[in-house]
Amino acid sequence: MSPFTRQRSQSIAALGEIKLINEIQRWLGTATPKAPAGIGDDCAILAGSPKDQLVTVDPVIYREHFDDTIPARGIGAKLFNRNLSDIAAMGGRPRAAVIALAMSKEVKIEWLRDFYRSLANIARRHRVPIVGGDIAHQPTGFTATMTLIGESSHQRTLTRQGAKAGDWIFTTGKLGGSRLNWHWKFTPRLAEGQWLASRPEVRAMMDISDGLAKDLISLQPKGTRAALSEQMIPVSRSADQMSKESNKPALFHALTDGEDYELLFVVNGRTKPEMLQQAWSRHFKLPLACIGRFLKAKAVSPFDDELDLSKYHGFEHLR
Ligand SMILES: [Mg+2]
Repeated sequence: MSPFTRQRSQSIAALGEIKLINEIQRWLGTATPKAPAGIGDDCAILAGSPKDQLVTVDPVIYREHFDDTIPARGIGAKLFNRNLSDIAAMGGRPRAAVIALAMSKEVKIEWLRDFYRSLANIARRHRVPIVGGDIAHQPTGFTATMTLIGESSHQRTLTRQGAKAGDWIFTTGKLGGSRLNWHWKFTPRLAEGQWLASRPEVRAMMDISDGLAKDLISLQPKGTRAALSEQMIPVSRSADQMSKESNKPALFHALTDGEDYELLFVVNGRTKPEMLQQAWSRHFKLPLACIGRFLKAKAVSPFDDELDLSKYHGFEHLR
């Protein structure tokens, strides 16, 4: 469905700002607390906490991140889940969200209602209140930006720093082909991220948004190379499907498509990968794969099918 309408009576122009804000509060329902903990004051107040506080922000932009083929509820889900995935990537727990909209007057009320209702569903599912927001006019289009606040779930917060030569590289789930629909249907790996943060052998973590081949560089310690075994890469069925259309190997899609929103993490090289796999499978059904190791740059490869990663470049913004 298109987010826009030429018929004024069906557009947000028919409501005006004050009525629109009232409607938004109604659409959000129990997902937004009463002021000053929620919408209605100059700021929302969050209770203090001794834990590390995490902040992340991500937009969805019409024609950049979505088009008319995706339903409004899918856009809301994508916006919220992308932010949740960043909190998951550090082993955190989400606390509260605010949303800033910039949109034309031609946005359909019905479309916006579905968008907010999907936000409300996710807010309730993860117990993350939507505590405020802002609405601004822009001549055309629709941009929604969510800022999500979270906190560490354990004594420590996992970051992208900390990997060492010899460490194992793991990924959750299956990779590639997310453009075939699930880029707006994915599940942020919150429980998995929190569990991984509780494991001392896990040293660094991130979520895969731009493609494994590119994102892995952010975890790579200086003076090492990422040695990945081709057969260990968990290639999704969607990547197989994409490969039929693109005439590129499914593996190429798994390494470069991006928007996988799986967790990519590094485990102390002294750990036996099977031990972590076993502990994992007692908690989660989601597949977990040990895909390789960080090795000293010139070390002999432990794999006879080591990938040449220089052939694969993930998605890069602004290029
Ligand atoms: Mg991220």
